[in-house]
Amino acid sequence: MNDALAFLSRYIQFDTTQKNEMAAAQWLAAQMRELGVTRDIVVHEPARGRGLVVARVAGSEPLRPLILNHHIDVVAAQPEQWTRPPFAGEIVDGVLYGRGALDDKGMGVAFLFALLELVQEGAAFRRPVIFTAVPDEETSGDEGTGWLVREHGSALAPEWVWDEGGAGFVGLFGPTPQFGIATCEKQVHHVRVVAQGAPGHGSMPHRNNPNDKLIRALAFALRQPRPFRLSDTTRTMFESLAATQRGAARKLMAQLENPVAQRVADQRIRNDAQLNAFVRDTISLNVVRGGYQGNVIPERAEAQLDCRLLPDTDPDEFDVWLRRRLGREVSMEVLQRSPRTASSPLDSPFYRALAASIKQLRPEAGVFPLQVPGATDGRYWRAAGIPAYGLSPFILSREDIASIHGIDERISGENLALGVRIAKDLITRLCMGG
Ligand SMILES: [Zn+2]
Repeated sequence: MNDALAFLSRYIQFDTTQKNEMAAAQWLAAQMRELGVTRDIVVHEPARGRGLVVARVAGSEPLRPLILNHHIDVVAAQPEQWTRPPFAGEIVDGVLYGRGALDDKGMGVAFLFALLELVQEGAAFRRPVIFTAVPDEETSGDEGTGWLVREHGSALAPEWVWDEGGAGFVGLFGPTPQFGIATCEKQVHHVRVVAQGAPGHGSMPHRNNPNDKLIRALAFALRQPRPFRLSDTTRTMFESLAATQRGAARKLMAQLENPVAQRVADQRIRNDAQLNAFVRDTISLNVVRGGYQGNVIPERAEAQLDCRLLPDTDPDEFDVWLRRRLGREVSMEVLQRSPRTASSPLDSPFYRALAASIKQLRPEAGVFPLQVPGATDGRYWRAAGIPAYGLSPFILSREDIASIHGIDERISGENLALGVRIAKDLITRLCMGG
């Protein structure tokens, strides 16, 4: 099967939503052997039924490898909401529909075909390339990349890791594609807030009602946003994107260091959920539980806050701030904390080469560093001191982005071919030649 779109169609037909990546992993390994990409392939089983592929293309020099990573698992899909079945891999007018088309099997196929074409062309690899396909990205990564970094990270010792995170966006920042390469991501920080009180009859309200206490505490804590703050990544990002804006927006974006401009810009930014997430720690009230019957005052109420901290926020400082704002009527407990990790450098050979590859293939495109609002597997590598960069090498519209974890996820053959070419160009720049 040497057509990338047909290959991806078959890959999508493995329904990998249920901790069951092994069959797809074994199929990938078999295909890579059969196509002649490499014979140096190991399929690991980090947990029962979960498959993880490590395929190595050797290099002639003792250089640290480049890792090309994607994840095999996908999020669930409700077939009744889709216009095409999500796991059939149907191709309609050159567009392939299916869960994982963009997140993240398409990227894996782009990497695989880039390697395949280079091997078939007889390219001389100086630097080894390691193709990895991991399970468990969509849940925690602990049985996927987390496991790989823990068990094999120092043996693999990559120079750089190319993973998901950013993409080429079209229609978000004007009509020309703007490729955001992820260099850092926000810290996941989940907090539970609990109010205790005295149970009683609803006909005789009293001041010790836990629902009241919880609502008062949350209303105050959530009223004031956390401060606006730029990092190297977001500063460079806004400077680059300023060129895509017009008039006042262009001026504001270019001058965000200026406190006056910053205050004016922040009024707008606060009203845009995506932009707002770039410049401050955010708190989302996602779970509220209190009470069980219409005429009974309960004894307990709880809320869960999904906090996303900027890469350089000190989580202890954040907890003290939140604690103080919640007040004394409630208690607070941190449920989950992701490690604080440094940003991957913006001036590395990898970042420069990837920017050059994009420009080579799409000369009109812009390239900027991106801070990812959510969490990706890149954090495990960054926490181990390995620079990881996130980019799906495709051009995505707003509709394409909405289809990720949404309905009718899809990729065109043209887009997939662009991904193959960008990956091939990047590998050539970093791993071949003298
Ligand atoms: Zn993904």
